[in-house]
Amino acid sequence: MIIDCHGHYTTAPAPHDAWRNAQTAAFKAGGDIDPDYPDITDDEIRETIEKNQLRLLRERGADLTIFSPRASTMAHHIGNEAVSQAWTRRCNDLIKRVVDLFPQTFVGVCQLPQSPGAPIANSIAELERCVKDLGFIGCNLNPDPSGGHWTSQPLTDRAWYPFFEKMVELDVPAMIHVSGSCNPNFHATGAHYINADTTAFMQFLEGDLFKDFPTLRFIIPHGGGAVPYHWGRYRGLADMLKRPPLREHVMKNVFFDTCVYHQPGIDLLFRVIDIENILFGSEMVGAVRGIDPETGNYFDDTRRYIDALEIPAEDKHKVFELNARRVYPRLDAILRSQGR
Ligand SMILES: [Zn+2]
Repeated sequence: MIIDCHGHYTTAPAPHDAWRNAQTAAFKAGGDIDPDYPDITDDEIRETIEKNQLRLLRERGADLTIFSPRASTMAHHIGNEAVSQAWTRRCNDLIKRVVDLFPQTFVGVCQLPQSPGAPIANSIAELERCVKDLGFIGCNLNPDPSGGHWTSQPLTDRAWYPFFEKMVELDVPAMIHVSGSCNPNFHATGAHYINADTTAFMQFLEGDLFKDFPTLRFIIPHGGGAVPYHWGRYRGLADMLKRPPLREHVMKNVFFDTCVYHQPGIDLLFRVIDIENILFGSEMVGAVRGIDPETGNYFDDTRRYIDALEIPAEDKHKVFELNARRVYPRLDAILRSQGR
């Protein structure tokens, strides 16, 4: 089967976003930041999924998407921690409804109620709720809740450890995923996302996080940011900084997806990074929606690029399915319970 490890609910029903607008307006006006949530019917949700993600999944021949709230609107920098808590809960509950309507096709990953300056420990309760009560299999962790100003400690700092302890206990991975940028220097998907992917990798290289958490697992999306292209630089820096080789020091715990939107980029990813560390992903419907005039295909139709690789079928099987089942043990358990 083909598992897409990276999909967001970018097509959520309009009343959901209207609730968020009302919430942020209320915050500014000093009103109720957790107003009544609109009635959204199952049919409304079904329609937004069937016309978009499900249609594309079928057209492109994938079977299942690991599905999370829209990343750019997590916007942890808006409002305060209570605003983030209320919004996050609404977003995760909506994902749960999608999963319940399409249990064969979507599995949930949660947003976290992060907020600049708020201890990450305050996100533990929502992670536990989503994993234990809603059946989610992982989370999206924002290394920069300030939205482009990088006011948090590096991910290897002990400030993050309480959350990592809970991830290990629950046996769930996190995708490193920033949200919108409120720094005009950094376009959200064009610069901020790729910067964050690259930054997180360098932090892992510099630190000793995986000595303390040997089973902690992260997915760095968007093909690992700039890392595979500059693999020699990172291997060289590991050497200069007297770190162990990357394969032992970082790559037992870090995985890259295939959200790279052209063939030469995918060719390079597979040439440089071990097959065990690559998970199929497309981030659709999302970051880059258009059709590539050079090929006539959608940029984010990432399966084509992998199909075109001249690598053994068993390697493709790892990237399309087996690696995801290994990195997300709770996904494997769900699939087994479905006889898949
Ligand atoms: Zn994403």
